[in-house]
Amino acid sequence: MITIKSEHEIELMRKAGEIVGNTHHYLKQFLKPGITTKELNDLAEEFILNSGATPSFKNLYGFPGTICISLNDEVVHGIPSKRKLKNGDIIKLDIGACYQGYHGDSAWSYPVGKVSTEVNRLLVQTEAALYQGLSVIHDGAYVGDIGYAIETYAKKHKLGVVKELVGHGIGSHVHEEPDIPNYGKPGTGPMLKAGMVIAVEPMLNLGTAQVFMLDDDWTVVTGDEKPSAHFEHTVLVTKDGYEILTKR
Ligand code: MG
Ligand code: MG
Repeated sequence: MITIKSEHEIELMRKAGEIVGNTHHYLKQFLKPGITTKELNDLAEEFILNSGATPSFKNLYGFPGTICISLNDEVVHGIPSKRKLKNGDIIKLDIGACYQGYHGDSAWSYPVGKVSTEVNRLLVQTEAALYQGLSVIHDGAYVGDIGYAIETYAKKHKLGVVKELVGHGIGSHVHEEPDIPNYGKPGTGPMLKAGMVIAVEPMLNLGTAQVFMLDDDWTVVTGDEKPSAHFEHTVLVTKDGYEILTKR
């Protein structure tokens, strides 16, 4: 079932989203060579708890971290560990926070130190693909319109579109209906209505679109070990467009 959120629920989701955005802003200063992904994870946990929320992903489906931290060819669901960031890495932080029963979810990709021209292009274009997807959202648009916009942009720039993982509705559960694929045909799929809240999250690869899962049963990596980027916002569908709930 796709839910339409009440004004009260939307208020709580604005607050949850704000905490997620603030957590990203807070962590950014620590993204330097030498810090471990576990240290970043723990800083995120402390910040979310101090903001009066709880981390949405901790123990979600049994996930062993507080946030997902994926490096380089890891697409999503990286487990925080003793690994240290290095100059030239691309790091993806996927952060969720639950405020009074309602969730916000936002992933962002960041360069560590100086990254290659190709990686920089991947970062710029994957972020742009997110905004291409958001740009078609309004009451009466279709889920397929979002995927089509993202896929068209990605193809134009010869980036691989990950299809095994998708965006989603969000509310009192992190993952609600509908699925929001990063591919599709205009005018297909569920119709968007004002009051729906969805997470749009393109995952684009410099090389092949193919991905597979590591033996830890969590980390998804690219098939050719080339880098991947991930940008996600939680947004409210409005009459004329959308409102980003996970702003920085
Ligand atoms: Mg996420
Ligand atoms: Mg998500």
